[in-house]
Amino acid sequence: MTAPSRPAGTSAAESRDRMAKRLHGLGTTIFAEMSALALRTESINLGQGFPDTDGPASVVDAAVQAMHSGRNQYPPTVGAPELRTAVAAHQRRFYGLEYDPDTEIVVTTGATEAIAAAMLALVEPGDEVVMLEPYYDSYVAVVAMAGGVRVPLTLHAPDFRIDLDALRAAVTPRTRVLLLNSPHNPTGTVLTHEEQTAIAEVAVEHDLVVVTDEVYEHLTYDDVVHRPMATYPGMRERTVTISSGGKSFSFTGWKIGWACAPPELVRAVSTAKQFLTFATGAPFQPAIAQALALGDDYFAAFRASMQAKRDRLCEGLADVGLEVLRPQGTYFVTTDIRSVGHDDGVEFCRSLPHRCGVVAVPHEVFYDHVEVGRPLVRWAFCKRDEVLDDAVARLRRGLG
Ligand code: PMP
Ligand code: GLN
Repeated sequence: MTAPSRPAGTSAAESRDRMAKRLHGLGTTIFAEMSALALRTESINLGQGFPDTDGPASVVDAAVQAMHSGRNQYPPTVGAPELRTAVAAHQRRFYGLEYDPDTEIVVTTGATEAIAAAMLALVEPGDEVVMLEPYYDSYVAVVAMAGGVRVPLTLHAPDFRIDLDALRAAVTPRTRVLLLNSPHNPTGTVLTHEEQTAIAEVAVEHDLVVVTDEVYEHLTYDDVVHRPMATYPGMRERTVTISSGGKSFSFTGWKIGWACAPPELVRAVSTAKQFLTFATGAPFQPAIAQALALGDDYFAAFRASMQAKRDRLCEGLADVGLEVLRPQGTYFVTTDIRSVGHDDGVEFCRSLPHRCGVVAVPHEVFYDHVEVGRPLVRWAFCKRDEVLDDAVARLRRGLG
């Protein structure tokens, strides 16, 4: 395993200050850095993944109503009963998975807290966590906070598939957890049936816990279908499935997430969660419960709208000469910038706002094998059409 080497790496000042060593090298998240750069340069922000259109007004009304009706004090640590019931109903309705709302579901402050609590609850210092590289940024941080050792399973462009031999080779007697993410941020890849079958076999053979981040579960495109890891043979009893209302309902700022798992694993996650936040935003919980029960028409229209945005941005980026690696899911499209005469994504993304007023995110910061990610750049398409068109027009001028 190579030592982490990211642009925001440990500075001399950092190593002299009082911050614990396990946090060294974590720097500032790329999303905060790039959103601040977008503000400073008045750029279009295709960096941090958040929609510029809010979710359904009926869901906002439900949150307002909850506030007016006194849902303003601490809710239960494990979450409001109606939200746990709604999560259980959602897992049954979309995937045929049965969870007991009382013992197998815990509500968290976004998927972020669920991932953190799972790592703190399940990983002993020195345990290895096999995880897909490029990583979603918080994984690196929370595995480090738990004292775990990350073991990358690298996805390579252009198709970002798992090398199944590398998967088998990555597991050692110290491996405790497989940490997955599908649909996958930042690549937009969705695990195939073959990959998921192989993962399930490896997990059963080595008796591993699988923690799977499925926040983009409703955002898959064309004929690509999201299948939760928990539906695979031997997985239901060893899988912590994590999701949140942020992506599915376009309320990323509400930070309502959840984890579904067998009672023993939910107890472990809840034990950590108690002392991270104790409880999660009271009035938002009944509102997200209502959102989870929205009709199939909502989910179909949302997916269709995001797919159209994917197509629009992919076409625009290709039009300005970028090699587009078309995503099967998520909010994001990746490009290879060597097609426009660049090879360093960090440098490209830091100069782009000054050159043409557009912000994107370099893949490199999500890798230990930084050279693999260096020429790749991620663009968020969860924006209004006119914003996407304006971004492409600016890129045409800036890259031309
Ligand atoms: N996992 C992935 C893969 C994400 O992209 C994100 C953020 N968008 C999160 C987790 C965090 O989700 P939340 O905002 O619900 O904490
Ligand atoms: N998940 C979002 C992204 O990948 C960002 C969330 C955050 O800023 N932490 O862009």
